[in-house]
Amino acid sequence: MTIPNKKIKKILIANRGEIAIRIIRACRDAGITAVAVYSEIDKTAYHVRLADEAHYIGPAPAKDSYLNQQNIVDVAKKAGVDAIHPGYGFLAENDSFAKLCEDNGLIFIGPRAETIALLGDKLEARRVALKADLPIVPGTDFDNKDLGHLNEKARAIGFPILVKAAAGGGGKGMRVVDSEEKLQESVSSAIREAGAAFGDGRVYFEKYLKDPRHVEIQIFADAHGHVVYLGERECSIQRRHQKVIEESPSPIMTPELRRKMGEAAVNLARESGYLGAGTVEFLVDPNLNFYFLEVNTRLQVEHPVTEMVTGLDLVREQIRVAEGTPLSFNQENIEPRGHAIECRVYAEDPHQDFLPSTGIISEYREPAGPGIRVDSGVVAGSEIVIYYDPIIAKLVVWGRHREEALERCERALTEYRISGLHTTIGFACSVIRSAGFRLGQYSTGYIDSAFPGRVFKCPQDDPSERAAMAAVVYDFLERQKVSLTIKRKSESQNAWVRFYRQQGFKQFDKR
Ligand code: ADP
Repeated sequence: MTIPNKKIKKILIANRGEIAIRIIRACRDAGITAVAVYSEIDKTAYHVRLADEAHYIGPAPAKDSYLNQQNIVDVAKKAGVDAIHPGYGFLAENDSFAKLCEDNGLIFIGPRAETIALLGDKLEARRVALKADLPIVPGTDFDNKDLGHLNEKARAIGFPILVKAAAGGGGKGMRVVDSEEKLQESVSSAIREAGAAFGDGRVYFEKYLKDPRHVEIQIFADAHGHVVYLGERECSIQRRHQKVIEESPSPIMTPELRRKMGEAAVNLARESGYLGAGTVEFLVDPNLNFYFLEVNTRLQVEHPVTEMVTGLDLVREQIRVAEGTPLSFNQENIEPRGHAIECRVYAEDPHQDFLPSTGIISEYREPAGPGIRVDSGVVAGSEIVIYYDPIIAKLVVWGRHREEALERCERALTEYRISGLHTTIGFACSVIRSAGFRLGQYSTGYIDSAFPGRVFKCPQDDPSERAAMAAVVYDFLERQKVSLTIKRKSESQNAWVRFYRQQGFKQFDKR
């Protein structure tokens, strides 16, 4: 294996939004020039304004811009960069893009193309995991043409089963099947969905585990043979089988289980010749048995949770590894400290089954204070459009222990103000306050079981809280001897009064 040996001075970030900004910040800290790319609709986006240089790469649809491999490579060469960082999503797990970079003399900041290809195929990844002696979820693969034997295969595993796409990601091509009657139809529709989403319709079965927890291990490998695990993240708070709240450490973790899962993840990394940052995902059953799920061969959305407890900058480490420099830490000197929780803030309506919500952000105010980090991609006036993932920001909090992190998280969520579209802030607040979450007793089905009516509330949505806030403002204005007649008030006071009048508070009616 050849060891890369090139100082990286300029990086093109083949992404947008909060992750592009996160990477720009790492570049700046390292004295590296950051080059942004943007689609037509993103020309005034915040990541474009923050970068040292920005280049246009095509129309709004992702396939014409952020997924246009040749265009991005051409821009990278023209800009004279040394490396490309793909972030997550878009081209991050695309082995042909990694290869294209390599063929054009550009460093792809991620694992080698062969490793991405191998582990990106979930069936292949299961084989690698078995070879590395990892426990895997019971399941079976089959030839898509051989639909006649489906019942037999499913019966051998035992219902309920989960139909999954071999090329899967983002929950696409996944179907839970309870009985033989629905099997054929579910398999056919999963094949169609996988084919449309990934251009690869292969599907397979897994036993559908009851009430598992999703616990994943962050791994890091350099070109000098060091492979290290950086503890776990618990990601069981999910909607549509996709994560929304993550924390580290996991409330169920013991030092013994962490060591076993960590070593399993490292074995798999060694077996696959891994390089750089990656995540080995597991499901854990109520008896603390763990089963390999899949590998994400990239930086994870929730990587800041690990950064908060380890104090490391994972993007900086990725760059070091890509340059051929050894990792700046080893297994012995990783000492996770305290507790971190991440709430993803999506432009989605939790009361409409988390339907994406588009529009202009009219008001935007981030929380701050001790232990608070916000990785965001927007400012007031930014627009959330239909073309891309509707993530707005990630609120990440740290506390010396879980209780402190929970308190800070709740406080930060109630401070966060985003107007103009629906967000998941109220939802996150409800989860953080719920009894099961507070006790650390939750699994991947928690949202359905703890919120059967799917009603989520945050103080700013709560009429009684709003009444209390209105009373405080009213009292303040009265004490300042500010007349409540419109013509004598300042603009900002007017705005408040207008707001509360709209909310129906009679004391603010015109006199
Ligand atoms: P994707 O790559 O599409 O996100 P994953 O394989 O990572 O799919 O699984 C996503 C989520 O789906 C898991 O975190 C878990 O909640 C659920 N899931 C996946 N496989 C199983 C299974 N065999 N049993 C129960 N739940 C599962």
